Amino acid sequence: MDRYGVFGNPIGHSKSPQIHRLFAEQTGQVLSYEPLLAPLEDFPGFAKGFFETGLGANVTVPFKEQAFRLADQLSERAQRAGAVNTLTKLEDGRLLGDNTDGIGLVRDLLDNAGASLQGKRILLLGAGGAVRGVLEPLLAQRPAALVIANRTLAKAEQLAGEFAELGAVSASAFEQLHGPFDVIINGTSASLGGELPPLADGLIEPGVTFCYDMMYGAKPTPFCQWAAERGATSRDGLGMLVEQAAAAFELWRGVRPESGPMLTQLRSQLGA
Ligand code: NDP
Repeated sequence: MDRYGVFGNPIGHSKSPQIHRLFAEQTGQVLSYEPLLAPLEDFPGFAKGFFETGLGANVTVPFKEQAFRLADQLSERAQRAGAVNTLTKLEDGRLLGDNTDGIGLVRDLLDNAGASLQGKRILLLGAGGAVRGVLEPLLAQRPAALVIANRTLAKAEQLAGEFAELGAVSASAFEQLHGPFDVIINGTSASLGGELPPLADGLIEPGVTFCYDMMYGAKPTPFCQWAAERGATSRDGLGMLVEQAAAAFELWRGVRPESGPMLTQLRSQLGA
């Protein structure tokens, strides 16, 4: 049977096996998809062992940068992201590294949430791996302005400089931000620890601003709560997870699964 999986450490919590198995059922594709607990001390050796028989794998925390280095060939978007979340074995046995996180976010925003980005003022919080991966597809939507705010300002400035040729992107410290923004995307990991980035009032225009947290879970995240208390609509990152998986599945199998029913099913399982 055609073999796929997801590398991570830890990996038990990953929803990718469930998502890909349901995509396979939905599209009539015969394949297996396993959680793959890769050792922290030897990701390359473990991954190469899998690819002796495996055809493709997703990559999650903390191996995306190592997967980037392991790939023999990189898609342009993986090259820009500096990280790989999807590995595919090519016919000649070499590994192609791709990154579907950014397109996953943009598809969730546009197709599932009905948000629009073109001509809008976007505030992107954070300057880590996730933000780096979403910058190119966000800028491709031609926002009027995209401001990156990060606790460590130098990292936001570095990213703004690297991506400047792709659109109107700038960096700011949290306390220097001038709102309101049309769209605010939280790409920090603050929600993981139940925290909020230091966000001033005036960033949200009630009834206009749309807020998105890349983090997801059973309960509304602190960022989504912050948004709701100020009159903004908000959405968590479960749809981004499903859409990045759909893009990887399409890359491997040449068939695009329908992500809407999957998202509804996952939300009801999470009770979210
Ligand atoms: P990184 O560790 O690479 O980056 C973390 C970022 O968060 C940094 O910019 C860091 O700032 C900032 N940060 C951390 N804690 C705080 C805090 N308390 N206040 C303000 N800023 C803070 O993480 P990733 O970029 O890989 O992931 C970020 C988030 O995106 C995670 O929650 C992850 O779960 C989510 N994600 C979701 C995906 C999905 O499919 N839905 C896909 C990928 C990621 P500093 O630079 O100053 O340290």
